[in-house]
Amino acid sequence: MMFKKSEELYKKGLVHLVGAVNSPVRAFSSVGGNPLFIKKAKGSKITDVDGNEYIDLVLSYGPMIIGHRHRKVQRGVAKALRNGYSFGASTENEIILAKIVCDAFPEMDKVRFVNSGTEAVLSGVRLARAFTGKDKIIKFSGCYHGHQDALLVAAGSGLVTLSMPGSKGVPEGAVKNTLVAEYNNLESVKKHFETHDDIAAVIIEPIGGNMGVVIPQNNFLKELKDYLETKGALLIADEVMTGFRSKFGGAQELLGVTADITCLGKVIGGGFPVGAYGARNEIMEQVAPLGGMYQAGTLSGNPIAMAGGIATLTELKRQNPYQNFESVGKKIEDILVGAAKKYQVDIVVNRFGSMMNPFFTKSKVTNFEEAQTSDTKKFAIFFWEMIRNGVFLPPSQFEAWFLSSAITKKDIQKIAIAVDRAMQKVAVSKK
Ligand SMILES: *Cc1c(COP(=O)(O)O)cnc(C)c1O
Repeated sequence: MMFKKSEELYKKGLVHLVGAVNSPVRAFSSVGGNPLFIKKAKGSKITDVDGNEYIDLVLSYGPMIIGHRHRKVQRGVAKALRNGYSFGASTENEIILAKIVCDAFPEMDKVRFVNSGTEAVLSGVRLARAFTGKDKIIKFSGCYHGHQDALLVAAGSGLVTLSMPGSKGVPEGAVKNTLVAEYNNLESVKKHFETHDDIAAVIIEPIGGNMGVVIPQNNFLKELKDYLETKGALLIADEVMTGFRSKFGGAQELLGVTADITCLGKVIGGGFPVGAYGARNEIMEQVAPLGGMYQAGTLSGNPIAMAGGIATLTELKRQNPYQNFESVGKKIEDILVGAAKKYQVDIVVNRFGSMMNPFFTKSKVTNFEEAQTSDTKKFAIFFWEMIRNGVFLPPSQFEAWFLSSAITKKDIQKIAIAVDRAMQKVAVSKK
């Protein structure tokens, strides 16, 4: 397998782009080597500029849930393009996508579209503050909520991959209202409430996806929500990653909780820049023009992006791939566990439906601290051997892998062969 053109582009890219990338996880910092440059993708496959084809388990970090370039999405977007790209005024497509989203989230009466997950969350947090009149926010260590100042503490994959504790350039004042708790540890939340009486909300990924996949244990979310109700604080579900991933709607519903405010992104744009935040009427009426919380966007509700979202969600609903995701996900999990056993490599696989990843560790992984016991060197060896065997993975131990409904039986067989070889390589490396 040759990476010659990727290497050339990487060198060229370094001149006018920062690290030749526009998002740091793409930089391969923790796995070594140069990032791949992609030429195109179709269905379950992605092709780099050297013509190497891979089964894509990155899927743009989640959005491409029905695979790349689905013909219905292409048709919907092409149709929208014929009418113009942006108007600075409302279009019917915004109403259509809003109805699809609100119908899928029972507690969501209204939604506001923005352009990214980061924007969705920063607006959702502002809304919680506007509604409660309180300032403090609790977040969980290892959860990532986009790159807004206030939540860029203990923020998971992107930062750990680069071995950064937080970000430079975030003033102390910006994080002074941010409290950090431990995932799956209700006591760590209660402690904050004992010492602060101005907590507006707790924000959480209902399934942790940005420290690798971490699953809430023993009714953690339900107990958290019940507790917050006694304290008059809101629950913000950051479902940017989990929304429409494991059911048509939210992971919170699967887990038996309903958040007060839900933030979305990724899948709802199907690869186009769409984020959203939504809640019941009483809360959403705080947002301008109905209320006093200001939030705006020149390109928000962009007609092309809305068309991409509508086509993707409509097709996703029609396909209803969730049962199949569960069985394909289980197969890949079994392949990983089986290969690890065969070559005596310590791994733990965490999986929730169609998102999963192996941690190269012995310990169970239920929070950020446990995730960090993983051997990232082993992951790097595993990663490159998977690449050489035609499987594209996120270049970090702490990122989730995703499935699309375009994955085939043949793809799974190919993944099995790749995993076997990669695990063997990891096993040999420790001697
Ligand atoms: C990806 C992600 C974000 C940020 O979304 P962007 O579109 O990258 O700004 C926020 N929260 C979670 C849970 C995410 O996975």
